[in-house]
Amino acid sequence: MRDVSSTATASGDVVASPRPDPLPMVVGPTRPHPSVLRRLAQAADPIDASTSVQDLQRALLLTRQLLGAPAAVPFVLPGTGTAGMESVAASLLAPRAPVLVVSTGMWGDRWHDICVRLGLPAQVYTCGPGRPPEAGEVGRLLGAGHHQALLVTHVDSSSGVRTGIEGLARVAGEHGALVLVDGVSAAGAEFVHQEAWGVDAYLTSTPKALGVPAGLYLASLGPRAVDVLVSRTWTPRHFSLDLLHWLPVMRAALEARFAYHQTLPGNLIGALTRGLELVVREGAERVHRHRRLAVRLRSALEAEGLRNFVAEDGDRANGVSVYRAPPHLTAAELLRGAAGLGVLLQAGTHPAAAGETFRIGHLGNVDEQDIDQTAGTLRRLLSPTDR
Ligand SMILES: *Cc1c(COP(=O)(O)O)cnc(C)c1O
Repeated sequence: MRDVSSTATASGDVVASPRPDPLPMVVGPTRPHPSVLRRLAQAADPIDASTSVQDLQRALLLTRQLLGAPAAVPFVLPGTGTAGMESVAASLLAPRAPVLVVSTGMWGDRWHDICVRLGLPAQVYTCGPGRPPEAGEVGRLLGAGHHQALLVTHVDSSSGVRTGIEGLARVAGEHGALVLVDGVSAAGAEFVHQEAWGVDAYLTSTPKALGVPAGLYLASLGPRAVDVLVSRTWTPRHFSLDLLHWLPVMRAALEARFAYHQTLPGNLIGALTRGLELVVREGAERVHRHRRLAVRLRSALEAEGLRNFVAEDGDRANGVSVYRAPPHLTAAELLRGAAGLGVLLQAGTHPAAAGETFRIGHLGNVDEQDIDQTAGTLRRLLSPTDR
């Protein structure tokens, strides 16, 4: 991908990234800030050097801020978002005890696949396409079983649905179930208040709303999850993904001490630290910016007659939009047309509507100009005079 322009925008430092051509309006990987890429290109110091330990400490402290979890133990570990899901599930969920999975698309289905692989009896509450779960139904299902945990997706990038975590966590708390949240497409674009919401484990990863290259996942365990971890009477078959092994490493780093379990990618952690500094510095405005850009895009597309996959505005995520293909073009034709005009969109991935939908990612370092270019491109493809 070649860089054609490098203009700072009204949004200032955070968004002042080179604008690539073609423009990737995708869920991930998103466009990293140049200072993040510079940090990535620096060779890592020895793992036990004070600089390496300080970088990890900084990344952990910033993760607590990002997720609103001052008392949690944060973990920053090598792997994909999926590895993060598997790591949290394998570390915390007791074999053979049932779990309840809420699915708002392919990522809830992935939670389910992971649970099945772990040998957990998993019940799935599959929400209607483009619909969030109902807390009352979750309460009814939890009341009828003895689930050890509720597994949820904060923002499902296949449907564009944002789930209200606070309400579900409250219901799960009433039933004594642990709450595990996949926030891979949420943290950095949505408000996250892990501690206030009573979420036991919240996880995310680098290449989506955080705007950092792929390769790390972030998992944050609240006090109850840490208790479960340290007092567990069983041992997962996973070795690298077992958070119990990593707990002393993260606890030591929080106190600026080194402990070894496996070699962490120092340059990637440095890049994450830089990326998180930008995210935390932008603060609440970052969520508002994502919201404003989403509204700007959606008003433009709805004026062209496109239909959002998510029925209710309040259930739509800030950083990803899923649309139904228009009557006269297939989703595949639309993607090809947009690519021809210099904007990369993504195919639908919702299990029940993949072929009829397409996705637009507006996560991370995205600004008005990106949104307007995307809307303008779709307008051209949809206008009858241009066909
Ligand atoms: C992208 C995504 C994942 C998986 O991330 P990978 O790094 O591709 O494994 C998990 N959950 C959600 C909600 C996502 O959007």
